[in-house]
Amino acid sequence: MKSAEIREAFFRFFEEKGHTRVASSSLIPANDPTLLFTNAGMNQFKDCFLGLEKRAYTRAVTSQKCVRAGGKHNDLENVGYTARHHTFFEMLGNFSFGDYFKRDAIHYAWEFLTSEKWLNLPKEKLWVTIYESDDEAHDIWVKEVGVPAERVIRIGDNGGAPYASDNFWAMGDTGPCGPCSEIFYDHGEHIWGGLPGSPEEDGDRYIEIWNNVFMQFNRTADGEMHPLPAPSVDTGMGLERISAIMQHVNSNYDIDLFKSLLSAVAQATGHVNDDNPSLKVIADHIRSCSFLIADGVVPSNDGRGYVLRRIIRRACRHGHKLGAQGSFFYKVVAALVEEMGEAFPELQHNQAQIERVLKTEEEQFAKTLEQGLRILEQDLEDLEGTVIPGAIVFKLYDTYGFPMDLTADIARERDLTVDEEGFEREMEAQRERARSASTFGIDYNALVKVDSETEFLGYQKHQANAKVLMILKDGE
Ligand code: ATP
Ligand code: MG
Ligand code: MG
Ligand code: MG
Repeated sequence: MKSAEIREAFFRFFEEKGHTRVASSSLIPANDPTLLFTNAGMNQFKDCFLGLEKRAYTRAVTSQKCVRAGGKHNDLENVGYTARHHTFFEMLGNFSFGDYFKRDAIHYAWEFLTSEKWLNLPKEKLWVTIYESDDEAHDIWVKEVGVPAERVIRIGDNGGAPYASDNFWAMGDTGPCGPCSEIFYDHGEHIWGGLPGSPEEDGDRYIEIWNNVFMQFNRTADGEMHPLPAPSVDTGMGLERISAIMQHVNSNYDIDLFKSLLSAVAQATGHVNDDNPSLKVIADHIRSCSFLIADGVVPSNDGRGYVLRRIIRRACRHGHKLGAQGSFFYKVVAALVEEMGEAFPELQHNQAQIERVLKTEEEQFAKTLEQGLRILEQDLEDLEGTVIPGAIVFKLYDTYGFPMDLTADIARERDLTVDEEGFEREMEAQRERARSASTFGIDYNALVKVDSETEFLGYQKHQANAKVLMILKDGE
């Protein structure tokens, strides 16, 4: 099954169950300053869950453009290292706004995945997780759906730690949230990885495909949990992940949507189309960058624009690593438009603009990229230990335009890390200098800093709230 056919099947299945097909919203969240980019299908329905907005329907189905490259759900560091994470991906989702709840959501998901008429996945390859105290979800899975009890795993709330399962879903530090139940697919023992909740869960063997969230609460800025006006459902299934399964491959990068992109990247960089992770990073980044530009983001030195700039610079560095001569990144846009332009006409309409923006950015960064890399090489020769000092990270940032995550990416390839705190101190010192000279100081890295702070606070709040949860049942 092609990805386009899976997307269409998902729509049709849920339309048969009374859902209204709703278009993907923009990657720039409308009226939501708490959110960097659209990171899940439910974002555009936030007010429906909160009871602030009424629509003509109480059931919806979407395929939502998502970017996870900053904020609460940040997968930038994973890209190139796992078979399942992208900065840009499509999330298939079905939603109930005070209509059906747990029971129907679980039955629908299982039917779509396993019935012969739909995806017909082998049941014995599927595993399920539930929130640790959600006995009702457990009974639905075991007694009604018939999943063997040993395949239903109870998981708590880890506060959003990276790479670890978490069965309490939240879109951000505030907003709608609730316990969830996830479905995993076993790609087979030839792939490294363990069951959700086990120490090896960050491997690519058992891949999470579908999250069913039982929306119950609104978390406010003070950390309080308020019950939603009505229990609701929000689900998300990664199109690329389910495509990999349906196309009998073990990596998202081997699916139809990535084939032509990868060969275009190879051609543009002059590198052979092999298993090199840099090819995958670039094929991933061209999607997020192009879709972000199509939705109106422009590279800049702060906010959303800086995240875009960081991704572009990262792609440039990987191209350089592959031996690309001159600008290459913008040349991949045509292949993307060819592959995805039909489903997303905004790519077609904005192709020229996307190419222009990328080319300009590349040319600008090319001036300092090579020089910066040379300086870093020299500094690394003298390095003692495995941590690149904040002063070096700052010099690369300040003089050569290397975002901190770019230096961290290089460091990781050599089993080194960067001194993030030291970097922040240098940043702060620079801000101080700028203030005392009373010049106009741009906070180039405001975003990076805000990210780490909110994530930390989010973690603490998360833990505290987990204790006061009352898990709702159907009909309560
Ligand atoms: P993971 O644990 O694998 O990082 P998640 O728990 O963060 O995924 P959810 O927030 O539950 O993901 O999102 C719902 C679904 O979206 C996931 O089950 C997965 O299929 C898909 N998904 C999430 N993040 C990504 C990503 N970075 N790239 C591709 N698909 C993703
Ligand atoms: Mg994740
Ligand atoms: Mg997960
Ligand atoms: Mg999940």
